[in-house]
Amino acid sequence: MANAIINENQINELLDQKASQAEIDEILNNALALKGISLKEAAILLNIEDKENLNKLYKIAKLLKEKIYGSRIVLFAPLYLSNYCTNNCLYCGFRFDNKSIKRKKLTTDEAISETRNILQTGHKRILLVAGEDTSQCNLDYVEELINKIYEQKLMNGEVRRLNINIAPLSVEEFQRLSTFGIGTYQSFQETYHPEIYKEMHPHGLKANYEWRLETMSRALEGGLQDVGVGALFGLADFRFEVLALLMHSQYLEKTYGVGPHTISIPRIEPAEGSDIASAPPNAITDENFKKIIAVLRLAVPYTGIILSTRERAEFRRELLELGISQISAGSKTNPGGYSEEKATEQFLVGDTRSLDEVILELATDGYLPSFCTSCYRVGRVGKDFMDLAKPGLIQLFCQPNAILTFKEYLIDYAGENTKLKGNQLINRFISDLQDSKQKELLLKDLKRIEEGTRDIYK
Ligand code: SAM
Ligand code: SF4
Repeated sequence: MANAIINENQINELLDQKASQAEIDEILNNALALKGISLKEAAILLNIEDKENLNKLYKIAKLLKEKIYGSRIVLFAPLYLSNYCTNNCLYCGFRFDNKSIKRKKLTTDEAISETRNILQTGHKRILLVAGEDTSQCNLDYVEELINKIYEQKLMNGEVRRLNINIAPLSVEEFQRLSTFGIGTYQSFQETYHPEIYKEMHPHGLKANYEWRLETMSRALEGGLQDVGVGALFGLADFRFEVLALLMHSQYLEKTYGVGPHTISIPRIEPAEGSDIASAPPNAITDENFKKIIAVLRLAVPYTGIILSTRERAEFRRELLELGISQISAGSKTNPGGYSEEKATEQFLVGDTRSLDEVILELATDGYLPSFCTSCYRVGRVGKDFMDLAKPGLIQLFCQPNAILTFKEYLIDYAGENTKLKGNQLINRFISDLQDSKQKELLLKDLKRIEEGTRDIYK
């Protein structure tokens, strides 16, 4: 199956694809139809280097982003369950051979306390993360924690969607995971380049490229509806990784009727005990990172692109424009990171601001922070989600849900400045609403929230 997912020769042939100015303009123009672009077209755009064409690319990416996602940015926080790992990924602080780090697996009580500390800041969506060590982090443990986390209620808040990034499972294990009530299952190929993959993953279960590559197929066959793919940028040529991510997405869509729900684009950050993490073999410049995001936005307009706090604050601001739809904020990358007793971090976080500081900046810049978790709760998942997203119908839900969940945040958690900016922003969105019926409904719901009702969603 692996050969059907990634055709290395085809990617290599496309890698240096160049085109005339007229062809570049045509690709950019056609992308406005929101139908995606071909692999060859993506390769051409990935090779653009002159300022003028890059600016054109960024402008189109920005237009598509606004068309599909408006100014909404969905927020989440990662919760690290365990940093025990039997793999040896050379770039990761959690790898087995890194004997100097403090290892920790959260007990149920510790996971509850981490959850409550995250809830206290206003988050509603958590991404569970763990190293790969089945003697420490198995499905019984994950199931128990998920149940306990969903039970937590704090002030007016609770976790409304748990996504999960844990080691790849078998089809039978995915079947079991699909009954735990999670949103998206994420796993990153790290690098799609087979040789570099081998070098970076010398032993452990993860050393098997094919097993890793077939993860999402097993997940979908096991009954999961939303899967998130990704590549760890800095290992191989970024053009190879983007083309492979697109090839993987096309394969999933063709085979299972639905492509990935999200694409993550982590860039390697320094990590304790990893030389590679401080000097990645194919380090990505900021300009190329922007290009990666813009080309993905044109190629798979309806797939969410996730940016983590690996990136520093000022740069994250620039990247939002180009197509990012979800960001983490106020993140810790170590088990126990939100509490007193902390273990070693997986990598260094580039944006260390609190959730409220991030929200204040988003609102000041005119972005609408969203804590919406509605789709997965009402069953708009997998193909059903894409069928609504493609004709633009999802907008009817996303915008009001974003405003309502942001209003909750402003009342329950925001600092004074954020409250002020946020309410001004909501008022502006309401006065821009053309549909008077929609406006009336939204005002009614906002009033209910002001009077104490929570968790209203469409
Ligand atoms: N252990 C599981 C795995 O490897 O799939 C899941 C969790 S792992 C902690 C999550 C992701 O962190 C990895 O897939 C990798 O892309 C990313 N990561 C590892 N080391 C990193 C580093 N030094 N900088 C940035 N991201 C890193
Ligand atoms: Fe373990 Fe995942 Fe880190 Fe690899 S990336 S060492 S599998 S935690």
